[in-house]
Amino acid sequence: MTKDNLDLYLQFLREIIEGDGDMSKLTEALAGIAYYYHISAIEAEILGDDKLEQKEITLFQRENAESVGEPIKHVFRSEKGSDIVIYIYAQERPFSADEKEDIEVYATNCCFALQRHQMERFMRHMGERQFNTWLLNIDGFLRHVNLLIDRGFKLSDYSAICFNIKSFSDVNKRYGRNKGNEILAGYAAELGRMVDKDEVLGHMGGDNFVALIIKSRQAIILDNLKDIKVTVDVNGKKETVHLSATAGIWDIDDDNVNLDNIVARSYLGLNTARKNHASRIFVNNSMIDRMSSLKNVLEHYEEALTGKEFRVYYQPKVDSRTGKLVGAEGLVRWFREGKMISPGVFIPALEDNGKIGMLDYYVLRAACEDIKEWIDKGYEPVTVSVNFSRRDLKDRKLAWNINKIIEETGIDKKYIEIELTETVDADEHGELSKFIDELYKMNIMTSIDDFGAGYSSLATLREFSVHALKLDRSFVNTDDFSWKDEIILKDIIHMAGELSMDVLCEGVERDDQLALLNSVGCYVIQGYYYDRPLPKEEFEERLKNKIYKK
Ligand code: C2E
Ligand code: MG
Ligand code: MG
Repeated sequence: MTKDNLDLYLQFLREIIEGDGDMSKLTEALAGIAYYYHISAIEAEILGDDKLEQKEITLFQRENAESVGEPIKHVFRSEKGSDIVIYIYAQERPFSADEKEDIEVYATNCCFALQRHQMERFMRHMGERQFNTWLLNIDGFLRHVNLLIDRGFKLSDYSAICFNIKSFSDVNKRYGRNKGNEILAGYAAELGRMVDKDEVLGHMGGDNFVALIIKSRQAIILDNLKDIKVTVDVNGKKETVHLSATAGIWDIDDDNVNLDNIVARSYLGLNTARKNHASRIFVNNSMIDRMSSLKNVLEHYEEALTGKEFRVYYQPKVDSRTGKLVGAEGLVRWFREGKMISPGVFIPALEDNGKIGMLDYYVLRAACEDIKEWIDKGYEPVTVSVNFSRRDLKDRKLAWNINKIIEETGIDKKYIEIELTETVDADEHGELSKFIDELYKMNIMTSIDDFGAGYSSLATLREFSVHALKLDRSFVNTDDFSWKDEIILKDIIHMAGELSMDVLCEGVERDDQLALLNSVGCYVIQGYYYDRPLPKEEFEERLKNKIYKK
């Protein structure tokens, strides 16, 4: 950027501060100056004011920028006596002495000019706004909702809509980050035109927005959100970008609802819509109940881990040719206040919040300790497989930690197998392959779980050095099993055999399913046909006498 441009931005800034300038241009002016002086961020902090919350406000933040050196710190006392500290951070290299001097002069001038224009009012305004789009941030959104209530409006006349722009990352990829930000700001401006004065619109960050809309206008707004057009200048040519949103809608039915729930419940709808690839989801009471019970579950998770509320159940794997118990899968159960919670309830939630790893290690350790106990009691154990979530692959020491746990308990590695599911995600696929190789080198067996459900590929068989394939129950749980299915199943089993992999099928419940599997060459079975997952003590009985009826 040239000096001329800098002057222009400074002029711009002066007009905003001194006149009753258009605040929405402020970020543009700040960004212009910041780019000239390789500034990575400008932050402000208010000290010692009882009216405003003490907080830090970001006035400018350059995308992906790392700050270097000490920031320039400019302290300034407002008329009301509170101190406002402005921090200006450099990017790439520290500021030179000249640059520092320039910036300090501008900062002094800005603050001086602002003094006359009520710094506090300005700061509050900034603090409530989302950087870049200039819409209300969450704090601002909630305060404005409160203002509506103060003015006598009833929440039950409103719907809360939380929405996210579909594939906005593609827009960023195509136009670059800066243009992407401009498009986002244009989108926000369009939204601003859509909402009425007695409605509230907020920007939660990224490409997520929230709005409080009068119920009778909900349909119009949802219709508009299907296609919002933003025109941008690309290399001198005007281009129109069409943006469509995924939305979660909660029709508020309680005038006294806690305001945080307005956001939380509509966000729940948005999240559900995204998971189901739906354009919109209306939140109902059963969804809300599930969310609160999940929240409750997650709040007690760590205390449950230390309090030994989790127990491992063992489901036998049986060789149908001999009726012999040949292995087991360790499946976790959570006992809370006398009730058992099944993994289908809490595992997805723990995966979402990134806390599943602690539980998987816990289950592995418990299984190893149980095996140790059986050996000590004189029973010959079988190999126990335990599940690890794909989320755990983010943990770089995963293989190392697994190895350590097995070694610490002192059991032979042949008694443990690690189950993982396949994935469509290319990054995860690479991580999975690396992880399986690491375990292979450590002499720890692995298996691919739920093979044939959702995504699974024959390339898996070739690429991964897994010890076993677990066919998903959907293979045998279908009423219209066709000759094509039979060929596919036969081929998978044949190929796995050629590659020296074991094959097992889960979820087998009936004679006809077993007969079918046997006819295609799959003999090891895990399913209710033989046993459900059993508490440790009951499984111990099976260990003593390993033969089932044939
Ligand atoms: P999975 O690993 O595929 O486990 C098999 C599931 O099928 C188990 O459900 C088991 O109880 C059920 N099942 C077994 N035989 C039959 C049958 O004949 N019919 C039917 N309908 N179902 C059968 P469960 O125990 O509810 O576990 C559900 C899923 O939760 C597991 O699927 C696994 O993905 C996950 N999970 C369980 N424990 C853990 C754990 O410690 N860590 C992780 N990350 N995931 C776990
Ligand atoms: Mg499993
Ligand atoms: Mg499975």
